[in-house]
Amino acid sequence: MTEFAVIPPATASLPVAGSHMRFPVRRIFCVGRNYADHAREMGHDPDREPPFFFDKPADALVIGEADIVYPPRTRRLEHEAELVVALGEGGSNVNAGSALELVWGYAIGNDLTRRDLQAEAKKLGRPWTMAKGFDGSAVCGPVHPVSADGHLDKGSISLSVNGTVRQQGDLALMIWSVPEIIAELSAYVRLEPGDLIYTGTPAGVGVLEPGDVVDIAIDGLGALTNRIVS
Ligand code: MN
Repeated sequence: MTEFAVIPPATASLPVAGSHMRFPVRRIFCVGRNYADHAREMGHDPDREPPFFFDKPADALVIGEADIVYPPRTRRLEHEAELVVALGEGGSNVNAGSALELVWGYAIGNDLTRRDLQAEAKKLGRPWTMAKGFDGSAVCGPVHPVSADGHLDKGSISLSVNGTVRQQGDLALMIWSVPEIIAELSAYVRLEPGDLIYTGTPAGVGVLEPGDVVDIAIDGLGALTNRIVS
């Protein structure tokens, strides 16, 4: 039996909707600029620049409807409502035609971003790690196992802050569909059970302040509510 020199970190996990079981989280991957309207609002041309990947640490999760603690070192915390894909199987160089076989379930996510640090990183050609991968940056609701109704490839995704709608899109408007994301990502790195993929956000990203209440809804997954606390 392995003797660890310090107490080993716990496995990050999410609740499974309608079950006492937990979904163990290995890695968190994210797709950038996967909706044309959001790419444009960030000053990019989606016809010329395809989506791309970045990541967050597994222990950056804010689980379910826990409070979001306003992070340090930013004056511009922003929300990004996203569909999260949870993988039950892994693979490399997966074909898009069979990629959905890897999907165990789906969840509602919020890809929190320190937008001021991201803008600085872009300007200086530096990594996004501190803009995207800070503690509590990966808000994620319960994982809903793939149902008999099948996979989520269309339907409303929306986000409101204090009751005012800020983001309103449709999953069908993703530039890379979920199977295409899995195929593309698995050509870069081997995917494994427990991986989460944040699939990008529609237009309307905006600022959050302490005291705000954020509601995200995705057709088929219900809603997720979180409060920002200082
Ligand atoms: Mn995002």
